[in-house]
Amino acid sequence: MKTYPLSISTACVIICLSLCPFQELPKVDVPFADKWTHMVMYGVFCLIIWFEYLRSHHRIQTGKITLYGWLCPIVMSGLLELAQEYLTTCRSGEWMDLLANAIGATIAYLLGWIVLRKIVSPKTVASLLFLLFALPTLAQEGYPANYARGPRFKALIYYSNNVESAHKEFAEQALKFFHKLSYGEGFLYDKTTDLSQYTDEQLAEYDVQIWLNNSVHGEKERKAFERYMENGGGWIGFHAAAYNDKNTRWPWFVNFLGGGVFYCNNWPPQPALVVTDTDQHTVTKSLPREFVIPSSEWYQWNPSPRKNPDVEVLLSISPKNYPLGIKDVVKFGDFPIVWTNKKYRMVYLNGGHGDECFTDATTNLLYVNVFRWVVSTSPKGNPFEK
Ligand SMILES: [Zn+2]
Repeated sequence: MKTYPLSISTACVIICLSLCPFQELPKVDVPFADKWTHMVMYGVFCLIIWFEYLRSHHRIQTGKITLYGWLCPIVMSGLLELAQEYLTTCRSGEWMDLLANAIGATIAYLLGWIVLRKIVSPKTVASLLFLLFALPTLAQEGYPANYARGPRFKALIYYSNNVESAHKEFAEQALKFFHKLSYGEGFLYDKTTDLSQYTDEQLAEYDVQIWLNNSVHGEKERKAFERYMENGGGWIGFHAAAYNDKNTRWPWFVNFLGGGVFYCNNWPPQPALVVTDTDQHTVTKSLPREFVIPSSEWYQWNPSPRKNPDVEVLLSISPKNYPLGIKDVVKFGDFPIVWTNKKYRMVYLNGGHGDECFTDATTNLLYVNVFRWVVSTSPKGNPFEK
């Protein structure tokens, strides 16, 4: 029901049209006008099924689309003709109608399969079909205009289970958080614990990669990530995703992050007073100047990314927190925790330790703002304005 609202609605409309008595339509001077109507009706119906199938599947399964996009509509049409003949007094079944319906369904099925799928991407097909068929259907049935806009972009969430438990806890919470953001299919997301299986082409489909609790360590994944970012990819990294020191040996990544390497941290995890560094940036303009961010372990970097002219710092730990920590105490130093390297579509957020990071509305708004902003700067165009 959630995945195929238009197909189900269209099926209901067809059932009503087929079984309810209605006024004789004005005669039009076209040979076999009623058969053409049948053909177009089932053609549109099958195209709508294609549209919703493509919208929710990245890979096409022949059996499924043949069953649901072709056979089921024809069987439904046959049953309706039988119902018209035997269950209603106002309508009568005609085998020629069934034939017209089957022809319409077959043309739509072939059109979807041979032409649309191969020539244009599923996303374009979905948009085209949406424009052609879904808008009028929606208007008739009174759905809110934005209901069936469909996924406008794709996100790839990367995380690891082979990390310390507090980082796993964060990933579990973050997966729930981003899943909720996808409600209504405003976007599609895939999640993975292994980026090495993705080709450049597959990665390029994603408007943003979100690294929850790990970086990539293999040469192949690192190079693929470099190409992805250098070609306009988007990245949001949390906490340990950016962890690097003298042993990680990935200079490109250090440069990407703004030049700093991990320097020190507070312990145990704790909340902190944070201050927004600018109210001019889309990410921070709706945030208060100062707020308390929920408990996390906080990393300080050396040198501070703020020293890099390409970096714009968005949020920092307020110096009012010093001394910060109980076992491990940070006593001074510039302490940015959210920033962007303006040469890339990226934001790094230092929070991400433990299960409390999503317990505060202001911080959650920060996450939404970051997600929205990185996606909105896609070189494919701002998907929120499509
Ligand atoms: Zn941590």
